[in-house]
Amino acid sequence: MDKVNFTELANSEIRSLSPYQPGKPIDELAREFNLNPDDVVKLASNENPMGPSDKALLAIKAGLNNLTRYPDGNGYELKLALSNKLSIDIEQITLGNGSSDILEFIVKCFVSKEDEVIVSQHAFAIYGLVTQVVGGRVVQVPAKNWGHDLDAMADAVTDKTKIIFVTNPNNPTGTWNSKKQLEAFLKKVPANVVVLLDEAYFEYVDETEYPSGLEYLQAFPNLVVTRTFSKAYGLAALRVGYGVCSSEIANLMNRVRPPFNVDTLALAAATACLKDANYVKQSKELNDSGLAQLQAGFEQLNLSWIPSVGNFICFSIPGRAMQIFQGLLSLGVIVRPVANYEMPDHLRVSVGTQFENQKFLLALKNLLEA
Ligand SMILES: *Cc1c(COP(=O)(O)O)cnc(C)c1O
Repeated sequence: MDKVNFTELANSEIRSLSPYQPGKPIDELAREFNLNPDDVVKLASNENPMGPSDKALLAIKAGLNNLTRYPDGNGYELKLALSNKLSIDIEQITLGNGSSDILEFIVKCFVSKEDEVIVSQHAFAIYGLVTQVVGGRVVQVPAKNWGHDLDAMADAVTDKTKIIFVTNPNNPTGTWNSKKQLEAFLKKVPANVVVLLDEAYFEYVDETEYPSGLEYLQAFPNLVVTRTFSKAYGLAALRVGYGVCSSEIANLMNRVRPPFNVDTLALAAATACLKDANYVKQSKELNDSGLAQLQAGFEQLNLSWIPSVGNFICFSIPGRAMQIFQGLLSLGVIVRPVANYEMPDHLRVSVGTQFENQKFLLALKNLLEA
């Protein structure tokens, strides 16, 4: 048989795509450097260092009895719990296999070849990826002090613009936009352009001027808010997140959503965890003290950082970021290079437990003083 070049056969959009680069898994690093996996500290993917809620684990055990059945394709129990907790209608909710799923649905619903999607410089990479897959054009607006310049983003709208992605707070910079900024932005954006407000780190923020996107849904039917169980709810492995918007847009997303996109154990765990307010409170407290610990450490080492309200923080080591990243790996500490976010002098570290943060800071100190 003739050898077929499948890469040439693939859609051109796919050929020019580079895959999303996830944080290095613990086992992979342990194999490479001959380390004990238990000694490796992974602070690379903004995961919750507490481990999941006990309530989630119990729900998963109970769910094990149901593995031969398809999941509830409507995710009724979880939607009901979300609807009660957030005071929204069930019809406004779309469940995703992670909130990344929702980002993809919204693009599939609205973006065709040559359409434009606006993102901020230094914003989460997935937006660009899902847009390129459908042949959309990514318009990147320069950041201001590492954060989203919402005014400039609204000004970048053309008659080809379909979606504007706003991340609040942003990953990887940890910057955030205020109520006043968001309101002015929403008023400025034409009503026929969808605003996707990604609130993956919502639960960690307690600045008084930090807005909840849900409060603007009524006034702005073009708004879609996404949140996730991967971060403050500690369920990254289970892949569950959600979008909240008008029932009309939710209905459209439901047409592109694969049936059974959220599995039985994920639904059960997320529903249980949502009711465990204490777990999120503890996660936040651990994060607050961890952020303070890391900042104090950076200060001692004379390193500058970008103030963050997320569960991660970017610090700067001009000219040496990759060298320090590699050095940290060899010492069993995984952080995240952000050169692909146009931040070649920074590294992003996720907030871990006190012990993990300490191990990271010590390793960093050793490398800087070597
Ligand atoms: C982690 C993250 C998400 C959530 O991803 P999931 O698919 O829900 O795990 C979404 N947006 C941003 C900016 C993130 O950092």
